[in-house]
Amino acid sequence: MSDNLTPSQRKLCMSNIHGANTQPELLLRRGLWGLGYRYRVNDKRLPGSPDIVLSKYRSVIFVHGCFWHGHKDCKNYTVPKTNTDFWVAKVRRNQERDQEVWRKLEAKGWSVIIVWECELEKNRLPDTIAHVSAEIKANGALYQQRKAERKAERERRRKERAREKAELEAREKEISKKYGSVR
Ligand SMILES: [Zn+2]
Repeated sequence: MSDNLTPSQRKLCMSNIHGANTQPELLLRRGLWGLGYRYRVNDKRLPGSPDIVLSKYRSVIFVHGCFWHGHKDCKNYTVPKTNTDFWVAKVRRNQERDQEVWRKLEAKGWSVIIVWECELEKNRLPDTIAHVSAEIKANGALYQQRKAERKAERERRRKERAREKAELEAREKEISKKYGSVR
C-alpha cells in the first residue's frame, strides 16, 4: 500500500473491502427473506465467498461497494484527486478479481447477481429487491430446465445401451441357432 495517502484515504483503504454483514447487505437480505427466500451467507466453500447463496436457484449474490468495485457512472465512484494512480490501480485489481470469481462460479453452473450498494439506498430498495427477486426466479427456472435436460439425456443414453445390448444378444442367439453354440 502506498504510504502517501491522506488520512481520509487511508481510512477508506483500511475499511474492509469484503466486509460481511454490511448495512446495505442486511437490507437486501431482510427484503429477500420477507419474500420467502432462504439462503446461506458468506459461503466460504464457493469462489469469492458470495454474500448470499440461494442453492435452490443455483444463484449467488454479491453486494458491491460502488467505490471499491468501481461502479461505472455512479456518483459514489469518484476517483480521489490525490494518489489517483494508486486508487485507479486498486479498483482495477478488485474488478479483475471480481471477474475471475464470476468465471469460476459460472463454470460451476452458478448464476451471479451483482447488487450495487447505491441500489440499496432507501428510495431504490423496493425496486432493487423486486428486480433481484425476478432474476433469482429466472435463474432458478433455467437451473431446473438444465437439470431436466441432463436427466432426459441420461435416460436416453440408458435406453440406447439397453437397446444395443438386446440387439447383440439377439444376434448371438441367431448365430448359435445356425452354427451351434460356440461355447
Ligand atoms: Zn453505485
